[in-house]
Amino acid sequence: MTKNQKAKYGQPELLKDILQRELHGKKFRLECGHHVTFNEVLGNNITIYNGKELRIICAQCGY
Ligand SMILES: [Zn+2]
Repeated sequence: MTKNQKAKYGQPELLKDILQRELHGKKFRLECGHHVTFNEVLGNNITIYNGKELRIICAQCGY
């Protein structure tokens, strides 16, 4: 990766900030049928399949 290409990538903290700001405490049904509540201790983890369209399921179904 060139220096220029590298510069286009934000820090992991920025990604976390964006998600945290949007998702804090929110509840969703996932595409696998399970549920997630963000920022809940012992809440489901999620797997995001990247691509032209995102596919978001719980980590358990992601294996
Ligand atoms: Zn699931």
